[in-house]
Amino acid sequence: MIGLAVLGSTGSVGVNTLDVVARHPQRFRVVALAANRNAARLAEQVAQFRPAFAALVDPTAARELEARLAAKGVRTNVLVGAGALEELARLSEVDCVMAAIVGAAGLPSTLAAAHAGKRLLLANKESLVMAGPLLMAAVRASGAVLLPIDSEHNAIFQCLPHGTRAGDTPAGVRRILLTASGGPFFDWPAERIAAATPEQACAHPNWVMGRKISVDSASLMNKGLELIEACFLFALPPERVEIVVHRQSIVHSMVEYVDGSVLAQLGSPDMRTPIAHALAWPERVTAGVPVLDLVRAGSLTFCAPDTTRFRCLALAQAAARAGGLHPVVLNAANEVAVGAFLEGRLNFPDIAAVIESVITKADVGEIRSLDDVLQSDTEARRRAGESSRIRGRAVAGAHATG
Ligand code: NDP
Repeated sequence: MIGLAVLGSTGSVGVNTLDVVARHPQRFRVVALAANRNAARLAEQVAQFRPAFAALVDPTAARELEARLAAKGVRTNVLVGAGALEELARLSEVDCVMAAIVGAAGLPSTLAAAHAGKRLLLANKESLVMAGPLLMAAVRASGAVLLPIDSEHNAIFQCLPHGTRAGDTPAGVRRILLTASGGPFFDWPAERIAAATPEQACAHPNWVMGRKISVDSASLMNKGLELIEACFLFALPPERVEIVVHRQSIVHSMVEYVDGSVLAQLGSPDMRTPIAHALAWPERVTAGVPVLDLVRAGSLTFCAPDTTRFRCLALAQAAARAGGLHPVVLNAANEVAVGAFLEGRLNFPDIAAVIESVITKADVGEIRSLDDVLQSDTEARRRAGESSRIRGRAVAGAHATG
């Protein structure tokens, strides 16, 4: 039995993880579940999986969770606060940690799992974008096994030579071809994108995901974050990772070898495939995913991304090339700007404008320690907040004048 902690269990990846786990009760034992504040959903999950521990960051929500569990007669240790996530990641009963918290909030527990030498299932790409050198060093030092959950990186991992570990430079590889769906605004003209609403941004054509990553997919920032993630996971420079738009989301990414061979991993767009792959690796288990019907799919298309309409991708590519603290600043400014867009305080194109204004003014150097990362993150968030407020007033003014 593999002891499992699911951090971010109430979110899209967390729910998909528990769906796969429920299909294999002989193989996985849920030891801990954790989230931010969704007490109602976490209480249901705890009642179903009966973990020894559950945690919520928000204290009021944690009290609500205790009350809900008491009402159901479920005895589970309820922990409170952000520090509880790190405690759960380090528990000796936990063999495997699913890091599925969204955003920078996932960094401390992801690092804790890496330092503790766990099998680390990494959905939280932001922690690799922010602290790639530190996270990969922790994995190497502790002997942790890092398995990517992002469908593209999981696909690449599956196409690499047998025995390749995350952080190794894979032998014989010329390039990685990272596929992108293009998101909901792929064929929209710039003027229409400028007026896009949060609901339109979150209506992804192929994937059902949390709101932050959905907006990142619409702006193509998600592909930029994935580019940075790929460089750390597969120890390749950004110029050896090519982004290819593939609207059908059936080819999840490809690896090109020096002999001209290109290996691809294909499947229905369903996160349960990469989740099941990483949970059972190196074995295979069923995931409840519908079979891929290529005849029905008909055609698979590929084209280059447009970095003029999707400026966030160009900004992320520049941050990937610059390295050091640039990705930290990019990620922090993006999280603030996306939050403001989702709350109706910014227009969609302002996301890129806020990020660019923060990056231009940021004082960026190398990453020497976690403190460097956290300071840079805090400063970038402050500046992004200011920039969002200034632009937000323009949005409010435009609404007021009609
Ligand atoms: P969701 O928004 O659906 O879920 C986020 C989860 O994180 C929830 O459990 C939420 O708890 C928890 N959370 C949010 N803020 C905090 C916080 N401050 N402290 C602790 N927990 C917090 O996100 P997704 O599942 O879509 O994405 C999770 C991660 O996986 C992201 O990094 C994303 O980029 C990555 N990913 C997601 C994919 C997908 O298909 N969804 C695909 C590939 C990668 P609560 O519900 O209580 O708020």
